[in-house]
Amino acid sequence: QTANAQWQRPGPRSAELFERAARVTPGGVNSPVRAFSGVGGTPAFIDHASGAYIYDVDGNEYVDYVGSFGPMILGHAHPAVVEAVQQQASKGLSFGAPTGLETELAELVCSMVDSIESVRMVNSGTEAAMTALRLARGHTGRKKVIKFAGNYHGHVDALLVNAGSGALTLGIPGSPGVPEAVVQDTLVATYNDLDSVAEAFKAHGDDVACVMVEPVAGNMNCVPPEDGFLQGLRDLCDEYGALLVFDEVMTGFRVHPGCAQAHFGVTPDVTALGKIVGGGMPVGAVGGPSKVMETLAPTGPVYQAGTLSGHPLGMAAGIATLSRLKDGSVHEAIAPKLDSLLQGLQQCADKHGVPFLTQRVGAMFGMFFTDASRVSRFDDVAACDTDKFAVFFHTMLDHGVYLAPSAFEAGFISQAHDDTAIQRTLEAADAAFAAVAQ
Ligand code: PLP
Repeated sequence: QTANAQWQRPGPRSAELFERAARVTPGGVNSPVRAFSGVGGTPAFIDHASGAYIYDVDGNEYVDYVGSFGPMILGHAHPAVVEAVQQQASKGLSFGAPTGLETELAELVCSMVDSIESVRMVNSGTEAAMTALRLARGHTGRKKVIKFAGNYHGHVDALLVNAGSGALTLGIPGSPGVPEAVVQDTLVATYNDLDSVAEAFKAHGDDVACVMVEPVAGNMNCVPPEDGFLQGLRDLCDEYGALLVFDEVMTGFRVHPGCAQAHFGVTPDVTALGKIVGGGMPVGAVGGPSKVMETLAPTGPVYQAGTLSGHPLGMAAGIATLSRLKDGSVHEAIAPKLDSLLQGLQQCADKHGVPFLTQRVGAMFGMFFTDASRVSRFDDVAACDTDKFAVFFHTMLDHGVYLAPSAFEAGFISQAHDDTAIQRTLEAADAAFAAVAQ
């Protein structure tokens, strides 16, 4: 662990809250990556956020590139989103009966995502991936799923095999508590390696229900698909009668208003959504053609349910968010900002002689401490220098820039990141690359 004394931030109040939290919560956090295990030190406890900035309990202000790990593409506490939630809250929190809001959000999703005609709301990305898998198995009557090393689909038992995100940072290949029987039908292929997928199909083709893939791998930093990779998956699925499931929990509405499938022009059968679809509230969704979706209860035999699914506050936040993304202007506005951020970071790294690379798709990006000119496989990501990242991370934090506390997480930018925020980030980066170069 990095000695806390080495770093100014966060501060004593965060440290105190972390200590208190650790007494009553495993590791002091409710999601592992928040604990700073990947970089050492004490996590900042957040008091509030606004636009491109978050503020910790010690009163430090940070330019935020985590954005709640993806949802906050409009910026924190966007007035229209907050107002929609407040107005809805005054009408009652949850009814356990249908509301028009659920249909309004479903209609928005169907109008924005070409492959989706029908959508079921759930409460998280994990639930969305879990439901997508059960649906694919139920629809095809087959058992096996092909996933990719370093792809993360939430903490779904059957998919917690060679996972990314916190599972990578903590070095957990699977997890105790997941019985072997539950993962015996999970086949693991190599992201951006079609041959590895073809091999899995050759061996088990008749029993493969689906290929589940993050169209841009965002839980092993940010790794775009190579040309032809996603189309190759589509072709293999068609050849063997399997469904293609895009886990767009992270990429959905972030890389393009029509999701990664619109950006890359490849159509999946089933899409898992989360993060942006709930505008910062706990919402996930599964969508696809009606003929597939009708396999779900109550129209079909595949059971799926949720006491709080389609929660009115989540629907209100989702509608307020997606309706602002629909015409593409938010994505258009973000693109040049991310250009100047990434160009500025690269120039700064070059100036200090630090081997460094950035990659991006739409409004998500990755930073790699590597000599490589491109990072496209899990092994390339694993070869990056996590010690350099830890120094970079803490120096950025000390200079008021909040990055995800792990070398394996993607970065997220919002429409609220203006020139001032980006300039501040680049000034901090000058100090951070200097520290890395030492
Ligand atoms: N799928 C992907 C691609 C994700 O990035 C995540 C979370 O980061 C999940 C699924 C799980 O979503 P949640 O954390 O909302 O359960």
